[in-house]
Amino acid sequence: MEKHVEDFFGEMVFNESVMRARLPKETFKQLMKTIKNGEKLDLSVANVVANTMKDWAVEKGATHFTHWFQPLTCITAEKHDSFITPTSDGKIIMEFSGKELVQGEPDASSFPSGGLRATFEARGYTAWDPTSYAFIKDGILCIPTAFCSYTGEALDKKTPLLRSMEAINKEALRVLRLFGDSDVTSVKTTVGPEQEYFLIDKEVYDKREDLIFTGRTLFGAKSPKGQELEDHYFGTIKPRVQEFMKDLNKELWKLGILAKTEHNEVAPAQHELAPVFSTTNIACDHNQLTMELLRKIAAKHGMVCLLHEKPFAGVNGSGKHNNWSISTDTGKNLLDPGSTPASNAQFLLFLCAVIKAVDEYQDLIRLSVASAGNDHRLGANEAPPAIISVFLGDELSEILKCLEEGKPYGHHDKQKMQIGVTVLPEFNKDTTDRNRTSPFAFTGNKFEFRMLGSQDSIACANIMINAAVAEELSKFADTLEKAGDFQKTLQELILATIRDHKRIIFNGNGYDESWVKEAEKRGLSNLKSTPEALAKLLDEKNKTMLVKHGIFTETELKSRFEIQNENYSKIISIEAATMIDMVKRMILPAGSKFSGELAERISMKKNVGNFVCDYEENLLKTVSVLTGSIFSKVEKLEKNLVEVKKIQGAGETALYYRNVVFSSMNELRSDIDELETIIPKEDWPFPTYGEILYSVR
Ligand code: ADP
Ligand code: MG
Repeated sequence: MEKHVEDFFGEMVFNESVMRARLPKETFKQLMKTIKNGEKLDLSVANVVANTMKDWAVEKGATHFTHWFQPLTCITAEKHDSFITPTSDGKIIMEFSGKELVQGEPDASSFPSGGLRATFEARGYTAWDPTSYAFIKDGILCIPTAFCSYTGEALDKKTPLLRSMEAINKEALRVLRLFGDSDVTSVKTTVGPEQEYFLIDKEVYDKREDLIFTGRTLFGAKSPKGQELEDHYFGTIKPRVQEFMKDLNKELWKLGILAKTEHNEVAPAQHELAPVFSTTNIACDHNQLTMELLRKIAAKHGMVCLLHEKPFAGVNGSGKHNNWSISTDTGKNLLDPGSTPASNAQFLLFLCAVIKAVDEYQDLIRLSVASAGNDHRLGANEAPPAIISVFLGDELSEILKCLEEGKPYGHHDKQKMQIGVTVLPEFNKDTTDRNRTSPFAFTGNKFEFRMLGSQDSIACANIMINAAVAEELSKFADTLEKAGDFQKTLQELILATIRDHKRIIFNGNGYDESWVKEAEKRGLSNLKSTPEALAKLLDEKNKTMLVKHGIFTETELKSRFEIQNENYSKIISIEAATMIDMVKRMILPAGSKFSGELAERISMKKNVGNFVCDYEENLLKTVSVLTGSIFSKVEKLEKNLVEVKKIQGAGETALYYRNVVFSSMNELRSDIDELETIIPKEDWPFPTYGEILYSVR
């Protein structure tokens, strides 16, 4: 009989209830202090925790442990060590020490460091993050860790994420104290990431080099049927996909991941999975695991899960929606409008902090989701646009406007609205959720940031959001702490923020061409590509803020600038090389074969009886023109790849890849997609869009 979900949920996680049951009382208390309040952990305590963890893991069949970390690639890294320790009688015992739990030394010289780690000190170390539970994956006890260089610089995504959470905790607490709240001891950001993905059959995947090497199709004429009929979105899930989802949920649940919602997305073969939200760093770990399991479980079902942002042209790409809020340890969501004047004033202040943060640090937020894959969505006529704006909904916007103008709101309220005195009129939360085109939408009690790419680590976006909001909260706290009359200063602060930052608020259609013009008028930035966005990372204003809150050191920022530009260049370079290979060894030969056959047929028909050959001659001409054009375009692309080697500097190189190489690729592609529509089906060297998008039946 199948086990109930309640019985196996989290069975592979060394979570609080396991700790409480297994650890000596004193050790448990110490560890909780570390987990909840970030207090330092004694080695003697760590020894007890490690041993208990090992016993638990071994009972569940684990043989190895690993420090599981998130280097500056999109994926996670692990190196396995077994628990075995030899004994004098030629046997072994299973051992795991506090030292091994707390710190590891992966030989990590091959991870990107942007020049941070000279090779002679290449080792770097991993440090246990006790705020995220250890878990067992494939017989390996995984310890979530941060990854740093020996000189203390962060080489991963988790370290700055934890730092950003610390910063927002500190600044939010300052603000809460000013409102007279002395109960709250910690404030944490929460995230629920909705994950989109494609599922295709393994057999068609294996026939496409581009999918194998780059995760996306570099060619492909439009399928006769795409997403026009809107018959896939929320449609009945195919049995094969349902089986996959069932398996996936089971594995996710065992790992304590709160997989909740699943449905078909807009494009054919596209689906979505959303968990119940959790604390940001756990949500981040869980999302990484979710992406890993999506791929693994798909393989078990003879399918491939594509996490690329734009696997297919002409149908929707995949993103990730980062639902974000801030909560106190007393259980209050700070973005939830309250029911008393005081709690409303506090809500408004936090709301204003987010609005101001997004306006002041548009560039940082934009660049936090910049990647070669995501460039196909943002700023490329697909949702959402590259321009950052905040959606508040008509009602909340109107309330803010009335506050700003000192007018009454609604028909039942003849009093002018005053912060800290007025109870905010109840606004309809449903109406705040209707806009699907806004990149940063208030959805009643949280913000939904919709610009993330489907394969992004959510760490990057959350680091920048947390940092920017922490900065605004700290400025608010500075002002309010000095205030003689708190209510008056608060009122002025909120009104000034609305007045100075309302340009970022936009409730209309973000896909509309007129918005681009309007946004330009408002002075909002529109960074269309990764290299353009990354260039803003080292702007003085951004650097100062990030360093001030201890999110990044200046050296770390420089190294991240290098790494991300290099990553971008490498991705385009691999795509170009794959394209060239496919064109020269598969596409041009197919075109040449077909035109040869046509020529032969024409000459045969003419020889036999001088028959009319209009069809063949026209076709031959078209194919020859196209193959000729493809040939010259592929040569141009090859030349670009030689030229790019001469360029100095990571930023400049990335720009060349974007402006020159990527453009050449697009030109080349358009000819090939045209050729595909005239070459006989059996001669086309790889599966077509129609065959791929409808491969799972
Ligand atoms: P949608 O209409 O976008 O599908 P849902 O209400 O289903 O919105 O929520 C989407 C995601 O938002 C879920 O993952 C949910 O857990 C998450 N979410 C809800 N409340 C919060 C919160 N306070 N903080 C962070 N995420 C939240
Ligand atoms: Mg959503």
